[in-house]
Order: sequence, then structure tokens, then C-alpha cells
Amino acid sequence: MANATRSKIYKAEGIVLSRKDLGDSDRIVTLYTREFGRRRLVARSARRPNSQFAPHIELFTRVRLVGVKGKNLDVLTQAHTIETYPQLRDNLTAYAAAGWAIELIDGLSIDSESVPDAYASVTDFLQTLNDAKNSPEPLLSAITLRLLDIHGYGPELTMCTLCATHVKAGNHAFGPQHGGIVCKKCAESHNTDALHVNTLKLLRFTHREGLKGALRVRTDQRTRTELRRCLRSYLATVIERDISSARILERAQATGQAHALATNRTQRT
Ligand SMILES: [Zn+2]
Repeated sequence: MANATRSKIYKAEGIVLSRKDLGDSDRIVTLYTREFGRRRLVARSARRPNSQFAPHIELFTRVRLVGVKGKNLDVLTQAHTIETYPQLRDNLTAYAAAGWAIELIDGLSIDSESVPDAYASVTDFLQTLNDAKNSPEPLLSAITLRLLDIHGYGPELTMCTLCATHVKAGNHAFGPQHGGIVCKKCAESHNTDALHVNTLKLLRFTHREGLKGALRVRTDQRTRTELRRCLRSYLATVIERDISSARILERAQATGQAHALATNRTQRT
């Protein structure tokens, strides 16, 4: 019996993706773990004052944890914070950008399937976003394209998805339902979104150069808006749901303000 219980115990490292209340005082915490992919664990009494778990299971927190496998849900027995990424909680734009990546990895993940490259990319993104001072769209583009590539869903950015000709830098189009870029000529007879040359260049650059390259990019508002729209509509076709953080990001960008987040912190709990 003791051996059977022991074999169900596991240690892992993970990022808190979402939280949900359970009963009077418990919480269900969904974590994206390095070792076991997405796991759902019950944190007993996590909503009680003085709970040992509460500080360690905030959204986006990176934790070291011990869990016990259950039939439907695992039970969290220990959690210790590795990184809190404090800037992501104090700035609405950064919060929304982090939420975007978290929703994306949640949408791409299969329960219990470990994808170490994706885990490393997400933690790298959260740290870079936490430390960054510039607008988040180039970073978002880099992490979105990276996660899509890792999972085999990367959009076509080189050839026209309809006629297969090489698309040179210029004003073309983007067809989420076609799987990527559409050349100017094909766009005349198909339903697509406009893709300005600067947005196309930014997509290609962040795809090639990743987060490090994205940190060096400065963009105008028009390009940022178009980039968000392209990625968002493409993601809707891949994960079959809208990235709700995209709306928060749009609002934050529209007002151009970085708010303290007292109200938004609980939005995804
Ligand atoms: Zn074409």
C-alpha cells in the first residue's frame, strides 16, 4: 500500500495557467509543467487565510511542486515559488501579453504530454516580458510563432499559400484559413486580411530571430495593431477559440496606459 502511494507521488516544475474555485475553500490549479505537460491539481484549503499554497499559485507564477496522481484530479501537496514575474502583475499591457502566451500554450497542450522545448520557451518569454520596457507585440509574435512551430502549426511566411510562389517583401495579404500569407495577386480573388510590408517583415524577423531579436524591434502602432490582428485570427483557426487576452491588450494599447491591476488579477481565477 505504501509503495502504491509512493509511486503516485511526483515532483515537477510548472507555470500556473489558471485557477478555479472548488467547494468552500479549495482551488483547482492548472499548471503547465516541464515534466508532465498540463496537469490539474487540487490545492486543498488554498482560499483559507494563512493557506500555505496561496502565495505560490498566483497566475503566471513559476513553481516547484509535489503532486499526488488521482483518478480525475491530482492533489497538490507542496508548492514553492521559483519566480513571480512581478512586472506582469503591475502593468496591464504586460499582463495581457503574458495572458496571451498562457492561453496559447493551454490551447496547444494535451494533458500529461511533456514538451520541454515549449516549457523553456514559455518561461523564457515570461522572463523577457517581465524585464522588457518596449511594447510587447514583437515578443508576442516571437513566442507565438515559436510555440506554433514546436507543435507543428506554424503559419507559412515565405510562399503564397494559394499559388506557392515565393512572396517578396511588399504589401500582400494574410489568410488565416489558408494557413499563412497570400500574394497580392491571389488576394484579389480570395477572402483575406491586408498585410502591410512592415507587418510581413516583422513576422519574418521575429520568426527567424526569436525573443532576442524581438527585443531590438521598435514598431509603429499601425504595425502592432495589424500584427495582433493577424496572429489572433490565425490562432483562432488553430486552437479553435479566441485569445481573450487579445481584447485586454487592445484596450490597454488603445488607452496607452499601464494600470495597476487590482481588479484584473482575479479575472482569470
Ligand atoms: Zn498567390
